[in-house]
Amino acid sequence: MSSKPIYKRVLLKASGEALMGDQGFGIDVAVADRIASDIAEARAMGVEVGVVVGGGNIFRGLSKAAEGMDRANADYMGMLATIMNALAMQGALEKIGVDTRVQSAVPMATIAEPYIRRRALRHLEKGRVVIFAAGVGAPFFTTDSGAALRAAEMGCDALLKGTSVDGVYTADPKKDPTATRYETLT
Ligand code: UDP
Repeated sequence: MSSKPIYKRVLLKASGEALMGDQGFGIDVAVADRIASDIAEARAMGVEVGVVVGGGNIFRGLSKAAEGMDRANADYMGMLATIMNALAMQGALEKIGVDTRVQSAVPMATIAEPYIRRRALRHLEKGRVVIFAAGVGAPFFTTDSGAALRAAEMGCDALLKGTSVDGVYTADPKKDPTATRYETLT
């Protein structure tokens, strides 16, 4: 790669839905592999990359809360789903030789490092891709909040969102045919 990167450090948000691909549920390995190879390409250009993964492909707290489950408990299950996706992303990256660490906002010492800001910064400096799991680690939040928080904490130059919708709309374009796309935002 000869082109010079615009950003030195980025935070990529990969939603669960993006990881699901065209399947109705779970992780599409081909999609995880494609995201991983894009990340590898950015790494090869010298860009430092943090990744926040969603969990909506496996579990969405709010919809279960709507079905009568305790919201906080449902959200904890959603956070566990993001940890599974983080491990899937880690596998896809390591398979192609990209050094990674998973840090979870909900401590799970057996399978991932706990989130420690300064340690995550060190990993990034060493060129490792840090995959941040479990969002902000608290219920009533989403991984989008986690992505914004980690991007700010890591001093990222950009927050990139990989999702299945191509911009910001007035409503969910998959559910509402009258949704229109904002060309600019203030
Ligand atoms: N979640 C949470 N706190 C967080 C991040 C996630 O409670 O900080 C839960 C919440 O239930 C959410 C689920 O985890 O619905 C999956 O995350 P999200 O919906 O953000 O995933 P995505 O839409 O990106 O796939």
